[in-house]
Amino acid sequence: AAKNDGRGRARTFNRSMMIMLEQREMLRRSLRVALQEQQFFIEYQPLVEIVDGIIGFEALLRWRHPYAGVVPPSLFIPMAEADGLMGDIGAWVLEQACREAATWPSHFIVSVNLSPAEFLRAGFTDRITRILDEVGLPADRLELEITETVLLERTTNNLDTLHTLEVLGTRIALDDFGTRYSSLNYLQNFPFDTIKIDKHFINDVETNPKSQTIVRFIIGLAHGLGMRVTAEGVETTGQADWLIKKKCDRLQGNFLGAPMSAEAIGDFLRQSSFEML
Ligand code: C2E
Ligand code: MG
Ligand code: MG
Ligand code: MG
Repeated sequence: AAKNDGRGRARTFNRSMMIMLEQREMLRRSLRVALQEQQFFIEYQPLVEIVDGIIGFEALLRWRHPYAGVVPPSLFIPMAEADGLMGDIGAWVLEQACREAATWPSHFIVSVNLSPAEFLRAGFTDRITRILDEVGLPADRLELEITETVLLERTTNNLDTLHTLEVLGTRIALDDFGTRYSSLNYLQNFPFDTIKIDKHFINDVETNPKSQTIVRFIIGLAHGLGMRVTAEGVETTGQADWLIKKKCDRLQGNFLGAPMSAEAIGDFLRQSSFEML
């Protein structure tokens, strides 16, 4: 049977898969020069607090490939991580996002995603201090988003890094909560300010009783531990209403504002009012 499978797979490895693979290899090779060639840019998506309105933006990395167009992060970030490029790319994102945020109204935060490679890099917290100093952004206006995967390795060092960040005064968010190896242990031991509920659970939260139970559970858990909750991927009024009723603290998603260029932020702020919340 194994032989047949092998042959079957070889047969289905057709021309279009070959092309896909070649494209991946092409992308992978061009990723090496993308930073020098200034092909990266950042889009910012509004973070809306139920009580206070817009409180800042999440920085989302984009890559404009000269031939392929804008490549989504879900495609190129794993490649960059595998090829050891994410440390340098992440450092660029951090500096760029903090520099941008320093020009925003002074109560706005910027939330930056960290890949495991960055977080585990020696001298990471020193680099944060230097960047904040250089661009003149107070530490409490920077929120760092990490996922559970970051916490899987080298737990003692992770804990040290997180506590150093806490002392520095940066905020820490646990991103994509519920999608990976959610261990409640992390929540007991790590100083998160915010838990972000993955959009997977928000998607059908109006209609799926199971999603409702999970979302209610995460909100209750976070509040019980003194943490705030952000719902990601909010696309409809119905979802927003449901989340507000359940005392979710922050909403993020296309309903409140899609990711936008740094230049578009000024107009967005002038035009938006979130009185419906
Ligand atoms: P994430 O941090 O969970 O970011 C939220 C994702 O949801 C973003 O996808 C955003 O564009 C998308 N989104 C926002 N609102 C909606 C909505 O209403 N509906 C739907 N369907 N999606 C929505 P994006 O920009 O493609 O980024 C994907 C992931 O790539 C991010 O997920 C994050 O894990 C990673 N990423 C992005 N930028 C960076 C970065 O600078 N560094 C690192 N290490 N990872 C990054
Ligand atoms: Mg994020
Ligand atoms: Mg997320
Ligand atoms: Mg997500």
